[in-house]
Amino acid sequence: MQRDDLVFAGYCDWAGLVRGKAFPAADIAARLKRGVGLTHSNIMMSCFGPIMTTPFGTTGDLIARPDPAAHVAVPFDDGTAERFYLSDLQNTDGSPWECCPRDFLRRAITALSAFGLTLHVSFEQEFVYTGIEDRPGSTYALDAFRRQDVFGEALTGAFSAAGLGPDSFLPEYGRRQFEVTIAAEPALRAADRAVIARELLRGVAFRLGHRAILAPMLEEGGVGNGTHIHMSLWEGETPITYDPARPYGVSARAAPFFAGVLEHMPAITAFSAPSVASYYRLTPGRWAPVTANLAVQDRGAAFRVSPIFATAEEPAARQFNLEFRVADAACCPYLALGALIQAGVDGLTRNLALPAPDAPAALLPRTLQEALAALEADKATARWWSATAMHAYLAFKSAEVASLADLSPSDICARYAAVY
Ligand code: GLU
Ligand code: MG
Repeated sequence: MQRDDLVFAGYCDWAGLVRGKAFPAADIAARLKRGVGLTHSNIMMSCFGPIMTTPFGTTGDLIARPDPAAHVAVPFDDGTAERFYLSDLQNTDGSPWECCPRDFLRRAITALSAFGLTLHVSFEQEFVYTGIEDRPGSTYALDAFRRQDVFGEALTGAFSAAGLGPDSFLPEYGRRQFEVTIAAEPALRAADRAVIARELLRGVAFRLGHRAILAPMLEEGGVGNGTHIHMSLWEGETPITYDPARPYGVSARAAPFFAGVLEHMPAITAFSAPSVASYYRLTPGRWAPVTANLAVQDRGAAFRVSPIFATAEEPAARQFNLEFRVADAACCPYLALGALIQAGVDGLTRNLALPAPDAPAALLPRTLQEALAALEADKATARWWSATAMHAYLAFKSAEVASLADLSPSDICARYAAVY
């Protein structure tokens, strides 16, 4: 049997899933120029598969153009490999398509650059690994670490091969739950890496005959899988977020950015926690946020000011970051991070102040419908992308909500767990 190497030109869509087409590896040079074809309604593909609604109909052509800077080639012992690119969605004339998630993030990064700033970001991912027996007492346990067998090492090996800079792998609090963290990078690369990390989690588990389930909640009342997004602002090579003399330790220059994120957090949630099941996670008692608040070293806050370790070799200013905890793996990282940055840019533009530490915080949306209503009501978000894209996104997510209307929360968790 002869095998040709196939390379997948993928894009992470609004459902947070990577879709695309494969082509022979021998054609890479041509495909980097020409891309692969798709149609506008592809972006309306629900996470469950069917296109539930689309303003684009059956007409039109687009290009998914692989980005050589987002290339993955990770071989496995069994002779298979993960070979894929992440791509930009472009019109046939090569201009960015208004619904392209990577372009959404790129435009946010450009808006932030007008303030002379870049955002460094790291995504942490919690997940359930099915290749381990659920045993009592295994929370954070060495025994749970041991019994996941070679998965953790194969995963960090794949991350290293993909240049992801694995930072830690740990047994988490929930049943069969683990977490993996990677090094921080500038925003676009960080979002690419979040997507690559998810695919490698799935790809390594698959080769071992199991699944890494990233869905926000596997069962009603269970332990959530969060995607925590660590952020710090930089000017060139200099981190500028930290000032120990200021409230929360956040510098005067960085404070308006994070104040903007706090103000727009209900709208951001429509991108960062974009599934119906996301809101079973964002409930009290789950170490997940319920209000749009900022707090120092509080794992129940929407924004947690991360600690600085005096013993670490890195200077305090390089360690200092804020952790956004209102996200999960149903999100498209480009949309979630783009929305965070645009909200921060609005805060910088209006020179917003952070709330006083004892000020009451607004509740986060309690359902996806509430988050979509907050996105629609927040007029500042009209600048984040086109009206066409906004209407399409609202219709896309509203159709997802409607499709689950008759199901119980536990059935809804199961539907998402089958996908993510
Ligand atoms: N599992 C929690 C969440 O859903 C987070 C627990 C932790 O702080 O690591 O976000
Ligand atoms: Mg965790």
